[in-house]
Amino acid sequence: MTACRKTQNEAILERDAVVVGAGFAGLYMLHKVRELGRSATLFEAGSGVGGTWFWNRYPGARCDVDSLEYSFSFCEELQQEWNWSERFAAQPEILAYLNHVADRFDLSRDIKLETRVVSAVYDETRARWTVRTDRGDALSVRYCIMATGCLSAAREPEIPGLYTFKGAVYHTGRWPHGEVDFTGKRVGVVGTGSSGIQVAPMLAKSASHLYVFQRTPNFSIPARNTPTDLYRERQWKAVYPEMHREARETTAGILYEYNTTPALSVSEEQRRNDFAARWRTGGVNFLRTYCDIMVDKSANDDDAEFVRARIREIVKDERTAEKLLPHDHPIGAKRICTDTDYFDTYNRDNVTLVDIRTAPIEAMSPEGVRTKDAFYELDALVFATGFDAVTGSLAKIDIRGRSGRALSEKWAGGPRSYLGLMTAGFPNFFTITGPGSPSILTNVVVSIEQHVEWIGAAIAHLEAYSVDAMDADAETENAWVAHVDEVAHRTLLVLANSWYLGANIPGKPRVFMPYAGGFKVYRQKCEEIVARGYEGFIFEKRGSAPHAPAALETSLS
Ligand code: FAD
Repeated sequence: MTACRKTQNEAILERDAVVVGAGFAGLYMLHKVRELGRSATLFEAGSGVGGTWFWNRYPGARCDVDSLEYSFSFCEELQQEWNWSERFAAQPEILAYLNHVADRFDLSRDIKLETRVVSAVYDETRARWTVRTDRGDALSVRYCIMATGCLSAAREPEIPGLYTFKGAVYHTGRWPHGEVDFTGKRVGVVGTGSSGIQVAPMLAKSASHLYVFQRTPNFSIPARNTPTDLYRERQWKAVYPEMHREARETTAGILYEYNTTPALSVSEEQRRNDFAARWRTGGVNFLRTYCDIMVDKSANDDDAEFVRARIREIVKDERTAEKLLPHDHPIGAKRICTDTDYFDTYNRDNVTLVDIRTAPIEAMSPEGVRTKDAFYELDALVFATGFDAVTGSLAKIDIRGRSGRALSEKWAGGPRSYLGLMTAGFPNFFTITGPGSPSILTNVVVSIEQHVEWIGAAIAHLEAYSVDAMDADAETENAWVAHVDEVAHRTLLVLANSWYLGANIPGKPRVFMPYAGGFKVYRQKCEEIVARGYEGFIFEKRGSAPHAPAALETSLS
């Protein structure tokens, strides 16, 4: 299956598949391709595996989905042998887990680290992709699988004079290896999304002074992280497969306590008690206190007001508390944050909140940051400014499908994909957790497993029928894109300037990228489509015209 073809000037390695990215998605995909008896090479830009958990090494980085759920379910032995030390594992432990996965399944021999894929070009005559890297690799493959991640293209804001700053500059999504010591330093952190909310309390412990530059106040729920409850872990491990199966039957791929009651159907007192109970338990489960929080504005307002009241209670300085209150978006319309002592951090003498909505950052100088109304002397600056989400890493690769058409051109008005798995005109090109799939609205590991298994089955199907190429039908894709948009507009998710909508990236088209209809509904749709003979996909055998799968079945039988 592995061969080498020489063109005029270069040797092109022939493999069945290329996988790009070595996070949860890429590692499982590589394993799956091998299970199918096919050859694959995985390219990873970083110097180690782990994806998100390789790059985001900042102090305080941890998952907000229970670790027992935020891990692979495809191998029972793996589930049984791994022990999580905390309810929400910290970055080093998740990274250790992913390294363990790579070792356990002997994945490293097909992984090329520190190698960035720069282009992928489809050759219609051979029905193969040619993939090139920044290290000069050239690979010819039948299947091109992007496991490039939804939150992997770190976004650094353009601030005039940034490069004149003589202090150290960090990005939470590109954190250096090894200890970074902030002891006695004046540190600025820009951004108060999930990463900013996790990192600020940690920085405040060592910095002589911490300035938190906030443009948009965010809702955050206490994580209430604890060491693993060993009794609970034993219970889980006894029925792990059932727990994961159950999770796949839920909206978020997570075993939250889903309440089916609408918020305003109960008394105000009852609501206060219910919100308070969930606040005490902690975690993003809070958004599931009632079934309609993400669709009914009044229910959402009530929930949001409960959180604002908690912020006022925690933060002692009234002016600071007022600045921290989110008013410009419904709770949950931006990714809900969880924290450990975030709001409490503002009660420390060495922490100052700087509101850059009213007085924006204007420039940096060698000594620090100048806002519209003040100057802040700094020794270090930390950007917690997030990512060019969902499409950012794909956009950096020159991807060309049929007739040399660039993906960037096709997606100029926003991503267009069928099920977030394939995009018409790019045969045998698959995206794991691509735009138009539930991805970041869910437990991403559950979404990844479902996609890897779907793609694996599709490849097995193509191989079984000796089909050269599979493509999304353009009209079906149009209908799916419209459906994704329509479903999002049934919710309050579209009412925030969020990265779900690309609103954090200047010039990025405002399109709600993930599928908001819920994991269970989505998974069922994917399964039904397969059961109906890959409805909405076109299969191709070289030398014959493209045909819908039904026709293919007939011609093969
Ligand atoms: P990634 O882990 O992002 O891996 C993609 C890899 O592709 C990267 O290593 C990147 O270097 C590589 N890559 C990209 N482009 C190229 C290229 N051209 N060539 C070579 N390599 C390339 N999700 C949850 O469900 N629950 C959580 O609690 C949670 N917490 C999170 C906390 C943080 C701080 C962040 C940033 C994200 C979190 N997420 C969480 C989302 C998280 O991204 C996913 O859960 C999951 O790790 C994604 O895995 P992935 O393999 O799809 O992508």
